[in-house]
Amino acid sequence: MRRVSIFGATGSVGVSTIDLIARDPEKYKVVALTGGRNVARLAEQARALDAELAVTCFPELKEELADRLSGSGIAVEAGPEAVVEAANRPADWVMSAIVGAAGLLPGLKALEQGATLALANKESLVCAGEILMRTAHRHGADVLPVDSEHSAVWQALVGEDISDVERVIITASGGAFRDWPLEDLPKATPEQACTHPNWSMGQRITVDSASMFNKGLELIETREFFGFQPAQIEVVVHPQSLVHALVGFRDGALMAHVGPPDMRHAIGYALNYPQRRSLPVERLDLVEIGALEFRAPCEIRWPALRLAREVMEIRGLAGAAFNGAKERALDLFLAGRIGFTDMAAVVESVLEAMQAEDALKCDRMRLEDVIETDHFARKRADEAARRINKDS
Ligand code: NAD
Ligand code: MG
Repeated sequence: MRRVSIFGATGSVGVSTIDLIARDPEKYKVVALTGGRNVARLAEQARALDAELAVTCFPELKEELADRLSGSGIAVEAGPEAVVEAANRPADWVMSAIVGAAGLLPGLKALEQGATLALANKESLVCAGEILMRTAHRHGADVLPVDSEHSAVWQALVGEDISDVERVIITASGGAFRDWPLEDLPKATPEQACTHPNWSMGQRITVDSASMFNKGLELIETREFFGFQPAQIEVVVHPQSLVHALVGFRDGALMAHVGPPDMRHAIGYALNYPQRRSLPVERLDLVEIGALEFRAPCEIRWPALRLAREVMEIRGLAGAAFNGAKERALDLFLAGRIGFTDMAAVVESVLEAMQAEDALKCDRMRLEDVIETDHFARKRADEAARRINKDS
């Protein structure tokens, strides 16, 4: 039996992962499941899968989780340290599907015990790609992409020589405001930003899709996963979200990955790798689809793409600063404290200030520096937001 743990089990990717695992109960032993506020769902999942351990990251919810699991024999823990500790339980395959930089430490812990890390948590790679990959290498562990675009690139590379790759194209739906007039964007509300034309995902990544911060993170993720140069990585807007990525080779051939917008495909590929198994995803009817569109992304509408490219040039701790500032700007937008277009202004201001102070340079990335940069960028984002509000 394969021992599996799921971090962020109660979220969108976590639920899709459990959907696949639950179809094959004799194949998997579920070790740890972690979640946040939704302890009712976490307890239900832990009972249904007969997990060894359930952990909520909120200490104040430990009692409620314990009540809901009483008599089940399932161990209960709570708090951020308990989440990291859960990654220490021996497992063969670990799904990293916590949202945000909070996914970094559990991911590292899982790699340290040599587990295969299926990585949906792109923020870990953006903040600390060098450390994550170094840790995997040191412990002989694999990091497998789960983000749909990166799974697509990975699949297009099977059997290929990476030095034959000329370019990689990742697609973006364009999110909720793709076709809005530019002058309306500053007035966009969190509620409007929380809708996605094609994918059903967690709230934070949905807003990041509307602002293209998600695609900005994914540009960096592409570089960290596969080692391509920034100039080799392109973004195109593809409103149908059916072509997830394309890899272009030196002979001019483009290998595209085409599939329905259903994360169970990418999760299933990482779960079954190196095999392909039958997956419960829709089979596309190309004739019914009829046409696929591709457009150039507008950097005025989506400044996050330009900022991500700057981060790829600066490297060092710029990824941690970019992600920390972005996470805080997103909190402030969701709380109604800054406008939609202010998010990019906040992130830009944080990056500029930290670079001017030489705070983003590092020769060899250390975890303490990544954590400190993340905290500092969040603080700086608050200051930038206060300035923006005063000026407007
Ligand atoms: P979600 O918001 O639906 O779920 C997030 C999960 O993380 C929940 O279980 C939540 O309880 C937990 N969590 C939140 N904050 C936490 C913290 N501080 N400590 C511990 N646990 C915490 O998010 P999602 O859409 O499932 O996305 C998860 C990750 O996968 C993100 O990194 C996202 O960018 C990535 N991703 C998601 C999709 C998708 O289709 N949803 C696609 C590609 C990549
Ligand atoms: Mg993606």
